[in-house]
Amino acid sequence: MNTIFTPNKNHLQTKEQIGYVTRQQATEDDYRRIGFMSGLEVHQQLDTKEKLFCHCPCGVFHKNGAYDAEIIRHMRPAMSELGGYDGTALMEFKTRKNIIYRINNETACTYEIDDTPPFRINQEALGIALRISLLCKLNIVGEVHITRKQYLDGSIPTGFQRTAILGVNGQIQLSNKKLNLIQLSIEEDSCREISDIGHERYYKTDRLGTPLIETVTAPELNTPNELREAAEYIRFLNRSTGLVRTGMGAGREDVNVSCKGGSRVEIKGVAHNKWIPELSHNEAFRQWALLNIRKLLIERIQKEDWSILTQKLDYHDYNFTYAPLIECKEKEHQIIAVNLPEFKGLLSHFTQPGQNFADEIAQRLKVIACIEHPNLVHSEQEEELLSKEDFGKMLAKLGSNSNDAQLIIWGAKEDIPTAIETIKERCKMVFDGVPNETRKSLPDGTTIFERVLPGADRMYPDTDSAPIPLSDEYINNLGKDLPNDICERINQMNEWGVPKDSHHFILSKDLYPIIKEIADRFQFDPKSTAIFFGHTYKNIIGKYSIHPEFNYRKLVGLFKFIHDQELHPNITRYLFPILYQNPSMDFASMLISLKFKKRSLAELIAPIDFLEEKFKDLHPSENSENASHWIMGQLHRQAIGNIELRELRINIDKRLN
Ligand SMILES: [Zn+2]
Repeated sequence: MNTIFTPNKNHLQTKEQIGYVTRQQATEDDYRRIGFMSGLEVHQQLDTKEKLFCHCPCGVFHKNGAYDAEIIRHMRPAMSELGGYDGTALMEFKTRKNIIYRINNETACTYEIDDTPPFRINQEALGIALRISLLCKLNIVGEVHITRKQYLDGSIPTGFQRTAILGVNGQIQLSNKKLNLIQLSIEEDSCREISDIGHERYYKTDRLGTPLIETVTAPELNTPNELREAAEYIRFLNRSTGLVRTGMGAGREDVNVSCKGGSRVEIKGVAHNKWIPELSHNEAFRQWALLNIRKLLIERIQKEDWSILTQKLDYHDYNFTYAPLIECKEKEHQIIAVNLPEFKGLLSHFTQPGQNFADEIAQRLKVIACIEHPNLVHSEQEEELLSKEDFGKMLAKLGSNSNDAQLIIWGAKEDIPTAIETIKERCKMVFDGVPNETRKSLPDGTTIFERVLPGADRMYPDTDSAPIPLSDEYINNLGKDLPNDICERINQMNEWGVPKDSHHFILSKDLYPIIKEIADRFQFDPKSTAIFFGHTYKNIIGKYSIHPEFNYRKLVGLFKFIHDQELHPNITRYLFPILYQNPSMDFASMLISLKFKKRSLAELIAPIDFLEEKFKDLHPSENSENASHWIMGQLHRQAIGNIELRELRINIDKRLN
């Protein structure tokens, strides 16, 4: 039976064929079906004054245009001692990129560009990282060995990152399982990318060299939600020390995902934990889709029999109407038609929401051959970018069969050989399944190709640094007064009856110790205090920007004042907004500005009879429940800071009945 092929229909059919479900619909069975497996590398900047191996300041950031010097670097692969080349190195070499670093004298010195050997490792950073290692129950190394990790994507000017493992084999307790931690390392942060267009990539060096820790979990997380829980747990654990940076980019996750039969793919630099479930879900299904594409292709042809055919198209012979093709004439760009044997139905095969297999090729063309999007037209596009006549002419030139698929690409003459090589390479990978690669996350929960995953042999000793012995005494000292475990904090909050929807905020802002201190020192109810932080506090800090003099100690001071003055803590809701905006104002003046007066219960309930009469005059037909409500409205403001509002209500109701 010969049915007409429609790309959109094929996209939907293949989506159904692989059993794609949205994350909202997905059940644990779906993840078991596709063999979802994942692990994390959690990166966290440490809050130190100076960088890890030099004395440049940390946390000073410049605008893109603020720099004193620029240096340019090119990546060149060198053969390893074992006679091989690293995949990332080769890929970066193929891109023929000019990598340009913008250096500001305030935040970078000759160390960052490898003109000066490293200084002694920052002791403050080492201490913080070791404390966090202890919190992760890791076995601490006896001696720190600084090694170099190849970094060939250009984000570090020297081509390597100095890094050292501090602890191995740790564990954290999640709600449903114990998660093993493989290791924790201390390392230097990389550069921030400014732009990456065509053959030029720009970086700024302000963040470069900032002390960073990387916590690596075992690949034991079997659902996207479990993955998020682990990422949050580690983030909270790091924050519980009070010694790490917060804010945009201070904590970033690399998420490793695979499905059954797939490969380890790394989604790099995820800035928000809430994005993790959607990203990992879609990545696992993308791999599941690629395995289906493989299955369809090997049913038709064997890898060794498969090869692409290319033909240069002369625009004089065609009546192109698609703008990028028309512009080729003016830009003197080449136009190449490519035949992909037996690929019919694969280019429009579903991979991720809004993407199909043709996007896998287009993304690599942008990254490896540096041809900006849109960079291809293909035979399975819904919109007709090529007239039937031009399309027919191209098919004839390529000698295509009916089960083939075709691409047209264009670009500068020098980029075309890499582009053709890239297409060939990506299509050949279909026969093997899922390529190892790193991917960049998009806000919609999908990902795009970033880089070939670097080889395993990336580490070599740093001959510039001596080993650092860690004495038992030093480690024991660091282990004194460690904060308690996040799982203990969660259990305690559950015991107190703190609503679950407040846990995240309290842990992410590290407010638990304050709630505990307020409960222990002033005997205030921890549940109400936690609710104050989860609601009033959250609301106020979201509304106003932080005053430079405000800090958590001021808040503890506020609760102490309430305690010493024998006020009811429900007045915190009114005092806190004043404190947050005027942290140096004394608490007594704040009470005056609220027109607060100390009143006994008897004084507070004295006007009830009078108010009841007044209510009856105003609303003769209303019932006593409404009367109680109205009287409450008249009196509640006076009660705040004096008694529990519920107590006032009980007294009103008692009088009315
Ligand atoms: Zn420096």
